[in-house]
Amino acid sequence: MSENKSFCTCTDLGCPLNPANHNKGCDLCIQKCLKLKEIPSCFFKDINAEKKPDGYTYRDFADFVLREE
Ligand code: SF4
Repeated sequence: MSENKSFCTCTDLGCPLNPANHNKGCDLCIQKCLKLKEIPSCFFKDINAEKKPDGYTYRDFADFVLREE
């Protein structure tokens, strides 16, 4: 199990990339996000943990930040 799984705030434990499911920390999640030009869920949760974003693209993140300011 990953040493930083407690650090990750992602609640999708069914995701095979979630650090709870392997020992590679954030690597797999970040690799996927970079490939898809997305922002990891932990950044959204840092802004508002209660609100589910419309999407995870860079633009979705920018819009999320502006709405939550
Ligand atoms: S980058 Fe991904 S794996 Fe790492 S803490 Fe954020 S959501 Fe979790």
